[in-house]
Amino acid sequence: MESIPNCPACQSEHTYHDGTFYVCPECAHEWDPNEVAASDDGLQVKDSNGNLLTDGDDIILIKDLKLKGSSTVLKKGAKAKGIRLVEGDHEIDCKVDGMKIMLKACFVKKA
Ligand SMILES: [Zn+2]
Repeated sequence: MESIPNCPACQSEHTYHDGTFYVCPECAHEWDPNEVAASDDGLQVKDSNGNLLTDGDDIILIKDLKLKGSSTVLKKGAKAKGIRLVEGDHEIDCKVDGMKIMLKACFVKKA
């Protein structure tokens, strides 16, 4: 059975293959599976300086980030240890100030 990746825009699992493109019925996002396949041979995540990040790296926030859906603000300079890289819009799975959050790689730098 063909495995269809989750929607890169909203992470929905209800995506389907529509001839050429993958389609997400939940946010109407469409994308080319060939592009996804091309990035499949290794997750490459770069920090704000263009340095390649790897699982287990420590990172530092380069700007204040307001957490979606809350009043919590992560301060510039906050550190996250032992990050985990994931596919998707927010590539970094980590803990900042004891909170498990997802970050965009463009807002961090390697510690
Ligand atoms: Zn979607």
